[in-house]
Amino acid sequence: MGVNNKYLIPFFDYFLPRFCLSCSIKLNAYEDSICANCLNKIERASQERIDHEFERKFKDNKIISDFYSLYVFEKDKELQQSIHALKYENKFKVGIFLGELLGNELLKVKPNWQIDLIIPIPLHHLKKAERGYNQSFYTAKGANNILHSQLNENALKRIKYTDSQTTMNIGERKENISGAFKVKNKSVIKNKNILLIDDVITTGATISECGMILTEIGANRIYAASIAIAD
Ligand SMILES: [Zn+2]
Repeated sequence: MGVNNKYLIPFFDYFLPRFCLSCSIKLNAYEDSICANCLNKIERASQERIDHEFERKFKDNKIISDFYSLYVFEKDKELQQSIHALKYENKFKVGIFLGELLGNELLKVKPNWQIDLIIPIPLHHLKKAERGYNQSFYTAKGANNILHSQLNENALKRIKYTDSQTTMNIGERKENISGAFKVKNKSVIKNKNILLIDDVITTGATISECGMILTEIGANRIYAASIAIAD
């Protein structure tokens, strides 16, 4: 994280207090982006839930070898506020923070994953220009701070500007996202085990589409991980 010196943080906090993205309480020197109280309230994704979601979202297409999500996305709860801040309010540091939590958990629960490359789900360049950044990049960067793999933001490009998928069903999402991505640098992808990272995985259509394109180019194994899983 940007400033992590144990003497500097209290100093900065005095002049520039930091606040919890969820409940707005002043953070103490040891908290980052979300206060301990809010963080404890976020529902963790159980192994049963993850297995169930893998069956539902990824098993049939045989593109994603394995998958992990840290939390369950619940509407109007602590995590939604933080992810909203990450996506729309320039609070990209929370992406790094949550990405680091995800990375630490992956080390524990998926020690068998052999990751050569970490790729964040790309945004279309117009959307990135509008938002100023790709929130998934920060999540992936946080995860890579822990996993010490190779982060590549440019290997995969989003070439189709897609509408918001929030109101679409799985069939509509698949159609909407089809042909949305292109591999920019094939040699970087070939024979590699790739971890795709998104902030929230809902139907899995976006992750599956990215995975399919990467597999067609010759990627070896595709893993997927996200901060949260949503219905
Ligand atoms: Zn809080």
